[in-house]
Amino acid sequence: MDKKITILGAGLVGSLLSIFLSKRGYQVNTYESRPDPRKADLSAGRSINLALSHRGLKGLHAVGLANEVKERCIPMPGRMIHDLAGDLNFQPYGKEGQYINSVSRSGLNELLLDKAEEAGAKIYFDYKCIEVDYQLTQSRFLHDGQELTISADFIFGADGAFSAMRNAFMRTDRFNYQQHYITAGYKELHIPPTDSGEFAIDPNALHIWPRGKFMLIALPNLDKSFTVTLFLPFEGEKSFEKLQDENSVRQFFQEEFADAVPLMPDLLHDFFTNPTSSLVTVRCYPWVKENCALIGDAAHAIVPFYGQGMNAGFEDCFVLDQLLEQHGELNQDLLARYQELRKPDGEAIADLALYNFIEMRDKVADPQFILQKKIEKRLNELYPDQWLPLYPMVTFSDLRYSEALAIGRKQQSIMDKVLADPEVESRWENLDFASIVAQL
Ligand code: FAD
Repeated sequence: MDKKITILGAGLVGSLLSIFLSKRGYQVNTYESRPDPRKADLSAGRSINLALSHRGLKGLHAVGLANEVKERCIPMPGRMIHDLAGDLNFQPYGKEGQYINSVSRSGLNELLLDKAEEAGAKIYFDYKCIEVDYQLTQSRFLHDGQELTISADFIFGADGAFSAMRNAFMRTDRFNYQQHYITAGYKELHIPPTDSGEFAIDPNALHIWPRGKFMLIALPNLDKSFTVTLFLPFEGEKSFEKLQDENSVRQFFQEEFADAVPLMPDLLHDFFTNPTSSLVTVRCYPWVKENCALIGDAAHAIVPFYGQGMNAGFEDCFVLDQLLEQHGELNQDLLARYQELRKPDGEAIADLALYNFIEMRDKVADPQFILQKKIEKRLNELYPDQWLPLYPMVTFSDLRYSEALAIGRKQQSIMDKVLADPEVESRWENLDFASIVAQL
């Protein structure tokens, strides 16, 4: 096929999209503003590992990469909750055999870049897109101090939360845009392997230290270390602004995360060396103008609390590829169908991700929440086709995010009524489960 496609950004989504479109026979040229990560270490300060789940794996499977990626993953079948006293409580995410996967961001990105090149894509590094002209299907780049303009038949903006293509769309009529920062930011820390070279805590769990308005989490790495992330408000009583010197950091961690402190010998160094980053939700529409389309974070940047940003971006690629399978070739009708299908799901996962911050930092430690999980687990065992709890719906199913959100809201209103019974704790095993399911 002689159609030329420009992809802006060779991050996770841009590189997977490069594979999909190259395999469909398009001439793919992908431009990345940063240097080639396979030749330079760029990982410092960025989230080092990610939770990969069903939707992301579905995209990888479609290009024949799921098994290779799974070999680089560590399964996490549930959350390990660390309370203030250091006591542990394991909460499975789904049924026996269901798990999310901890995977290295840079490892996955580098594998996808290799595979994109093998599939025929050309990837240009140190090319920063500075302008997109959607009417001419042209993009302008800065490379080596020179400006150059490149024409194509189609352009995809896979250039992340601060997309240059989206910036160009923003200057056009009737383009809707909203950007919202939550009050918390995050900082990455590190738990190294023990002296005997083992994992310091159970590797088969996503560890959470929930503390109401803030939390610490840890995901395992293949080198037997953990990447730890502190999510904390920027301002306020317990906040980054209050943690300005070694004493205050030491005291804060000792009070809030005492069992984690001995696991982090470089805590103070990491705390003062690693950046404090902000968390943004971006909503916009339309995602498509003529032959130019936004995809991944460029279309829908979300907060990371459902572990779904990359998964959602990979599902965008999968859906686009399915449309190509059905309709044959890329054209404006197909792109219109892509945005029609994906926009409601992008909105839904943005809402779900914001909600899950509250669940992770606060509710997972709440006895009422734990009771709800028990009741929902029983409902799912008795009526597996009729009651699938929200987390597995989002994480382990193919249901559209928008449908999962709608069903989840209905389930929550039913559960609110069930939990309003003051006796529910003692008699939950004798509830009329059939009538609960019937309300759905
Ligand atoms: P990006 O990964 O941002 O890639 C965009 C690429 O475009 C980058 O390489 C960038 O250098 C390049 N670029 C930017 N501007 C230009 C330009 N002007 N010209 C050329 N190139 C450009 N998701 C999950 O699914 N699971 C998780 O567990 C998870 N955890 C997360 C934890 C944290 C702390 C954060 C912040 C995010 C997390 N995410 C997670 C979300 C995930 O990181 C993103 O959704 C994912 O990286 C989006 O991929 P992308 O390719 O669309 O954007």
